[in-house]
Amino acid sequence: MMRIYNFSAGPSTLPLEVLEEARDELVDYRDTGMSIIEMSHRGPEYTAVHEAAIADARAVYRVPEDFAAIFVQGGASLQFAMVPLNLLGDGRRAGYVDTGAWASKALADAGHHGDAYAAWSGADEGYRRVPDDAELAIEDGTRYLHITSNETIGGVQFHRWPEVDIPLVADMSSDFFSRPIPWERFDVVYGGVQKNLGPAGAAMVFIRRSVLEEANRELAAYLRYDVHVAKDSMYNTPPVFTIYMVGKVLRRLREHGGIGAVAERAEQKAKLLYGAIDGSGGFYRNPVDPASRSLMNVVFRLPDEALEARFVEQATDAGLSGLKGHRSVGGCRASIYNAMPIDGVRALVEFMDDFLRREG
Ligand SMILES: *Cc1c(COP(=O)(O)O)cnc(C)c1O
Repeated sequence: MMRIYNFSAGPSTLPLEVLEEARDELVDYRDTGMSIIEMSHRGPEYTAVHEAAIADARAVYRVPEDFAAIFVQGGASLQFAMVPLNLLGDGRRAGYVDTGAWASKALADAGHHGDAYAAWSGADEGYRRVPDDAELAIEDGTRYLHITSNETIGGVQFHRWPEVDIPLVADMSSDFFSRPIPWERFDVVYGGVQKNLGPAGAAMVFIRRSVLEEANRELAAYLRYDVHVAKDSMYNTPPVFTIYMVGKVLRRLREHGGIGAVAERAEQKAKLLYGAIDGSGGFYRNPVDPASRSLMNVVFRLPDEALEARFVEQATDAGLSGLKGHRSVGGCRASIYNAMPIDGVRALVEFMDDFLRREG
């Protein structure tokens, strides 16, 4: 067997121990004679998996009691619709902080289901930073301020949560479970699980319980947060394999020091990589304002596109995969999510130094 270092932005690398455990259990789950993905989701084996995944998510992320935690299919993209559908039923408005590609999509979708506006946009600057609080233009009657905590494509991340007098709603897909959250400022936190937590197939959503009570009920059942909460994420058949895998990742996070340890490792890895970029005498360049640099998705350019193509090709040959930037922006991107070991980042930094010596 050969494992490479996979820097792909999503789906993305998972802990080897988790993959091996799933492999060992896949055909005959704990002497039941069948796979976890073949059995009833109402049976005792899957129920235990399901409940443990949610309990570990709450424990690891230190989610307070006044928040509900659910799995919903449709990824983060369905949440772009569910948030305004549930929260803006009363004709109120929502402000969106437009920090890049994902924030723009969330704003565009919200516009189909409510009155949504950009409270700030970094588009004119080429999405290089998050705003200061003083730059946020929040209008009267705004129900929530939506932020994208980490822009996966642009490599821009909030390191200080906006201090505003309305609740925050956040898409945390690409820095999910990577640092502690000040829950008191949020009404809804959601993320697709396929970046930091497991395989694709679900979003995890944390909703303040008081919000459920006032939420719009004039919706198809699947689109209602209160329905998913009341049914413990079993309103319909849940994505059992995804939740099973997420549960394993979360248990591992819990056993390896929890969210504090995760955050520390994320800082260490990012520091190594930005150090290599900043120490390259301008050969590698990160376009993001230093105060807004992402600890999860590190984007960088080389002097020209031919060099970038050569870099990605040679890196792939060296067992460093997924370094091509998003097709919409080009360049290079290293996604260094929770499951990327620090040795993977060291290997990348070594390769970058070596490439610079040869081609610089
Ligand atoms: C990947 C991503 C999404 C989309 O997630 P899906 O689960 O594919 O819908 C949304 N927002 C951010 C920040 C992302 O990184």
